[in-house]
Amino acid sequence: MISLCIVAVISFASYANVFSTQTEKRLNELKTDVAERVRTDSEIFRLAEDNLKVFEKEFMQLYLSDAKVTKEEFWSCYFVDAQGATRMKREYFDGLYGKDGNYIYGMSSFIGNNQRVDDPDFQRRLVLANRVLTRLGPAWVNRFANVHVAFPENAITLFYPEEPWGLNARADLPMNELGVIGAVSKQKNPERRSIWSGLYFDETAKKWMITYMDPVDYDGRHLITPGHDLYLTDLMERLVESSNDGTYNFIIRKDGYLVAHPSNPSDAQKWVGQLSLDKIDIPSVKEAYQRIREEIKDETAEVRIIQNKTHDSYLAVGMIRGPEWYFVRVLPVAKIRDAAHQEARRVFVEGMTVLFAVLLVVYSVMRYQAEKPLQQLTHAAEVIGSGEYGEVAEGRIPLPVQLNNEIGLLSTRFVEMAGSVKDAKENLERIVEERTQALEKANADLMEMSLLDGLTGIHNRRSFDRSLAHIFSDAKQGLGTFSVMMLDIDYFKSYNDTYGHAEGDGALKAIAAAIKGTIREEDRCFRYGGEEFVVIFNDANATAAEGIAERIIQSVHRLGIAHSESPYGIITVSGGIAEYDDAYAKPEEIVKAADQKLYIAKNKGRNRIAL
Ligand code: GH3
Ligand code: MG
Ligand code: MG
Repeated sequence: MISLCIVAVISFASYANVFSTQTEKRLNELKTDVAERVRTDSEIFRLAEDNLKVFEKEFMQLYLSDAKVTKEEFWSCYFVDAQGATRMKREYFDGLYGKDGNYIYGMSSFIGNNQRVDDPDFQRRLVLANRVLTRLGPAWVNRFANVHVAFPENAITLFYPEEPWGLNARADLPMNELGVIGAVSKQKNPERRSIWSGLYFDETAKKWMITYMDPVDYDGRHLITPGHDLYLTDLMERLVESSNDGTYNFIIRKDGYLVAHPSNPSDAQKWVGQLSLDKIDIPSVKEAYQRIREEIKDETAEVRIIQNKTHDSYLAVGMIRGPEWYFVRVLPVAKIRDAAHQEARRVFVEGMTVLFAVLLVVYSVMRYQAEKPLQQLTHAAEVIGSGEYGEVAEGRIPLPVQLNNEIGLLSTRFVEMAGSVKDAKENLERIVEERTQALEKANADLMEMSLLDGLTGIHNRRSFDRSLAHIFSDAKQGLGTFSVMMLDIDYFKSYNDTYGHAEGDGALKAIAAAIKGTIREEDRCFRYGGEEFVVIFNDANATAAEGIAERIIQSVHRLGIAHSESPYGIITVSGGIAEYDDAYAKPEEIVKAADQKLYIAKNKGRNRIAL
């Protein structure tokens, strides 16, 4: 998605870039083309001007020389027709060899019937002009329609191989009053400028023509006016030629006359000739002309680019030297935009192609360099998750450790980690085992301690209750029998009162030890509470128990703990024995029975056993 956006942005940027570079490029091309075109098209006009300069020079050399022209010589090539017009003889048009052996052809000449021809200077100018014409004309007419020389005296002489003009002209034609020839007269052209006519369509030749005339004066007198008629058909054809780069041309005169425009090529009027802009309805041309008038004030030879905003186009304007026409090439901005669109589309398509290629490569690399190794890593992680560290640590799960990249490194670390975790786990298990055993032992010790009496070190009342419950239950199931003896120290209160508690404690300890030391292996003694003890005789009936009880009494006697307040003089004990009987429902009942016997022993004078 991001890549797509990047390609789009690049395409947009390329559009903008191409648009500006295309504009610049096309405008430069346009400028160069128009400059070239104007230069080429100006050439014929410049050539016309150059030719006439040559003609003037040649003529003036002759005219100012002492070359003589006789009347006979003049009339040898002229005749007067029925209407009184003087014309050159037809053979000068058809072809003949002159006195000097030169072949003369294409020449014709005409002097209106309103004009006298007997003036020797007039005749001399005509003959000398003819001489120059016959010499220079043939060299020039491959580029020009003709070369002609007009005279202020309503006369003309022409080298014009296509047309015997001088023979065909109307006898009373007042040339020196009409058109271009009239325009070079001293009254109409006091500055003696060379003149380019407007463009006109020659019906006879079926060709577009323009005339150039250059008045030649000497000593303040107008002698001749050499001129060229130019065929401009080629230029016009090239002008209207449609071009596949979307441009088109037109020519407009400085004074606003449209010279040529390809607006309607099928029409006979496709070249509009000399038309004032207010008579034609081509808004783009009107606006172009207005823009040209605004922008081009100087007469520089350079091609100028003007933007025509309303019609969204560029105008390249060059001037055709000679007739001083604006040659205008129009480049619609849409054409540049099309090119920019095309370029942007190309960049986009190329960008997308490259993008997909890159994605494909990235995908393949990922597939083989990352995806499969990652799958292996994932699997290994799952195995570790299930606690089987050894599988990974000992290499039974395949991992891409051989890869020479981050994933390879990661895999190696992964295997190392699995090993560390495995070691740590085993270590932990061992420690837990050790701790558990220690705890169990501590618990057992604690349990043992809780069953002993703190003062005497023999088992306590709680221990007695348990042992009794056990042995009682066994006996109930017929697993042997037992007897219980309750023991109580005689006159112990007064002992304490007499000897103090500490002595009392000592006596308690000594008596407990004596009891423990007297009973059999299978018997157990307990401190029942205070100065009372209890003994369980295992597998012993009352009689068997009595024997042992007697020995206990004796062993206490043997301690010989002095007791001044006792009638016996020493500490003595009394005991009551009860034997197990199936009639007992609960263990307490046998204890109660033993206690009752003890009560009896006490009543009988103490220091004895009661059964
Ligand atoms: P009898 O012969 O009837 O058994 O008289 P007696 O004084 O022994 O009985 P009594 O129950 O009146 O008094 C028991 C005395 O035992 C009371 C108490 O001072 C003493 N005694 C109980 N436990 C301890 C002990 O742990 N240490 C000491 N020093 N004396 C104890
Ligand atoms: Mg007591
Ligand atoms: Mg007592």
